Amino acid sequence: NTFDGDESGNLQPRKTPGVLYSKAIPTPVKQPTLLAWSDELAEKLGIQKPESQEEIEVLGGNNITSSMHPYAACYAGHQFGHWAGQLGDGRAITLGEWEAKEGISWELQLKGAGPTPYSRRADGRAVLRSSVREYLMSEAMHYLGVPTTRALSLVATGEPVLRDMFYNGNAAYEPGAIVMRVSPSFLRFGNFEILAARKETDNLKKLADWTINRYYPHIQGEDKILPWFTEVMERTASMIVEWLRVGFVHGVMNTDNMSILGLTIDYGPFSFLDDYDPDFTPNTTDLPGRRYAFGKQSAIAYWNLGCLASAIAPLLPDTKELIEVLESYGDVFAEKYLAMMGNKLGLDEVKPEDVDLIEQFEETLSNLKPDMTIFYQLLIDLPLDSKEAQVVVKHFEASFYQQPSPTETEALHSLITNYSKRIKENSFSRETAQKIMRENNPRIILRNYLLHQAIEELERGQDQLFVKLQEAMKEPYSNKFDEFFAKRPDWASQKAGCSMLSCSS
Ligand code: AMP
Ligand code: MG
Ligand code: MG
Repeated sequence: NTFDGDESGNLQPRKTPGVLYSKAIPTPVKQPTLLAWSDELAEKLGIQKPESQEEIEVLGGNNITSSMHPYAACYAGHQFGHWAGQLGDGRAITLGEWEAKEGISWELQLKGAGPTPYSRRADGRAVLRSSVREYLMSEAMHYLGVPTTRALSLVATGEPVLRDMFYNGNAAYEPGAIVMRVSPSFLRFGNFEILAARKETDNLKKLADWTINRYYPHIQGEDKILPWFTEVMERTASMIVEWLRVGFVHGVMNTDNMSILGLTIDYGPFSFLDDYDPDFTPNTTDLPGRRYAFGKQSAIAYWNLGCLASAIAPLLPDTKELIEVLESYGDVFAEKYLAMMGNKLGLDEVKPEDVDLIEQFEETLSNLKPDMTIFYQLLIDLPLDSKEAQVVVKHFEASFYQQPSPTETEALHSLITNYSKRIKENSFSRETAQKIMRENNPRIILRNYLLHQAIEELERGQDQLFVKLQEAMKEPYSNKFDEFFAKRPDWASQKAGCSMLSCSS
């Protein structure tokens, strides 16, 4: 049941005190059709591509085999900075765990497979639009080298789903779909928060011990909680640094969307940056606060880690050291961030004086707002001889969404002069620097407008662009797919769904 009746007979979204998960059976769909399959992930897992309709039914939630024990997890969360109470897997159902070849186990989860005890007032379904986005993007992030959950399959359900389209408020039917998501675990900060909120300290301890033994087995000794929190903090910092490297904005960094393994999880209204704008949030629900804007992601990760720290605090005799670990986040993040920027810029090392240069990059780009991806690609091939301002502008022209003002031209010229000077001081060759830069700056990113076009075509039954994007995202650092090495076109900057998205999915 999704609802509980209160004394006066009113139905309230169900609460499940005392439990960490509830049994949940996928609701069969009309006609599961396989739209996409990740061969490389399947190979890694040792799963064969489904051939028969009977096998495809498994991916659509129509066929539950005897070895599966489907369940939905109970979790809570802080949403947009506020305690939201019990949430839980409202439309994700874990079928079970799969022992892969190397002995690693993976949770296999269907997203959009129908209501669970945690669906509250929603339908447990997912639309094709958001399912395509999650499928393509989680795989794209994997190939970019960003820690992420993954996706094995994308199935159309053959059933319509009612949604408010974007932010114009009109309800409309959209085709439904189901993604099979794959991760060592889908545990979130929120799984710990709910137990703390309910003062279920025994369950909290059990879950923490289980998480550590299973996913952090290298943590040994009497007191495991503190080293575990330290590692969660470090992994979270690394994940954010990787997002900043490739220009990814998650869009809904609620604590129920923060993986306990430091993986990018729950792909909703995410986006890559086109123009470099630290204030950009792709989430219409996040306006005007812009809590989850690109440039705030590290600060929000720290805030979220604070929520996790208070949740696990009851497991420690005192909180002094826990707070110290939490407070070390800033330094841990800064170290990782500077090292990443050093690679992006092709520096042999990041010296204290290089911090100014890195800050100058951030400031100049924030003002000029060039296309982030294209700008860094052009930086790789920058001629190092001293140049006039106009020559510099010309070099980066392909990355501009608008012509730089005289002040911006001057700022760019000064930046490039400083950068050229610094690159010449490298202890290694320019070629080595360029190689590092090519490995750290993606050339092909899944831009929202491309996803939007691919989805529109899929809804019309055409999959050419979708198939091409699936191939291109596997080699984001090569120039093999340069048809996608282009700025966001003008029409896409205003169009709903091409830059801004709602949580409705
Ligand atoms: P999200 O913002 O996507 O992370 O979702 C927040 C919460 O809403 C989670 O508990 C989801 O499981 C739940 N949820 C989102 N969409 C649906 C849906 N269509 N049906 C049921 N639950 C949903
Ligand atoms: Mg979520
Ligand atoms: Mg979601």
